[in-house]
This record gives sequence, structure tokens and C-alpha cells, in this order.
Amino acid sequence: MNCDCGAAVASEDGPSHAYMSALPACWRSYGELMARLSAHGVSAPLHMDAYAAQHPGNALQDRRQRGSVAVHLIVLGAHFDFGLPLSHLPRFRSSVSSTLLPRVGLQDWPALEPPKTWGELHAPGILCLAEDDLQSAISHWAAQVWEVWARQDTPVLGWIQILMEADRKRYG
Ligand SMILES: [Zn+2]
Repeated sequence: MNCDCGAAVASEDGPSHAYMSALPACWRSYGELMARLSAHGVSAPLHMDAYAAQHPGNALQDRRQRGSVAVHLIVLGAHFDFGLPLSHLPRFRSSVSSTLLPRVGLQDWPALEPPKTWGELHAPGILCLAEDDLQSAISHWAAQVWEVWARQDTPVLGWIQILMEADRKRYG
């Protein structure tokens, strides 16, 4: 079966994320990947943004999913296109909704039209790599997810500009 992220995974019973469009086998791979990162002390803070933005299905049905896809995408774009340092991401990520929505006059996140295809990298594939390769693979994965999304016609770039401006005013 093909997961929303493009990974070909076995059909299996098991838990999946509450609203992300991940198949159980892909969600389990992601859990195992996070466990490996933590066991080997690998820092790759964009993994959650890459994973969430690469599983954008169900957005029309679930407002939490719309918010999640938008926020994680904004984080990827702020890092790759606007140079927001990795160390600033946790603070930036947690302030996106409360800063942006009132500023652009939205009550809720709109559903964004997702890309039809992704690049080569996804969580189940990265899980198979050697420890030494995980950090750079996750970095490439996150860049790939952002590149594919950046070609879509969405308001995300404009949102990031507004947020980066607010961030600069607040933190210099
Ligand atoms: Zn997947």
C-alpha cells in the first residue's frame, strides 16, 4: 500500500496518528525513527515538520490537521527560505498560530492543496539507513518536502513573511 507520503508499506493493523493521514506501518516507522534518533543522540529537529507536512490528507475533514499542516510547513519554509536558525524553531513553531491567525484575520487555517507527488525520501526509507546517515538524510528529507510544497500555489510564503517580521520585532 502507498502511504500519503509515497512510501510503499505493508498493510498492518496498529495505531496511527489521530489526524495525520499516515498508514499504521508508516506511523510505526516514524516512531521507530524517533526512538533511534534519541537512542543515538542524533539531533534532527525538522523531522516532525517533514513528517507532518508530508502527510497532508484529511485536511478538509479535520481542522487540527489543517492547522498542523500549515504550521509545520511554515516552519520548514522559515528555515529553508528565510534562514530561521534551527535553535529558534521550537519557540517559533509554538507561536505560529497565535501570531499569524489574528494578524491575517483568519479564525481557522484554510486547507492547502497538497502536492501530488513527493521526492524519494520518507520516514520508512530513512529508518533503514545507518546511524551515521540519519542526520543528513533527515535534513534532505525536510528540504525535499519544503521544495515540493513551495511549488504549490498557497499563501504560505506570504504568511512566513508576516511571521518573520513579527519575530524580528519581538526578538531583534
Ligand atoms: Zn507515510
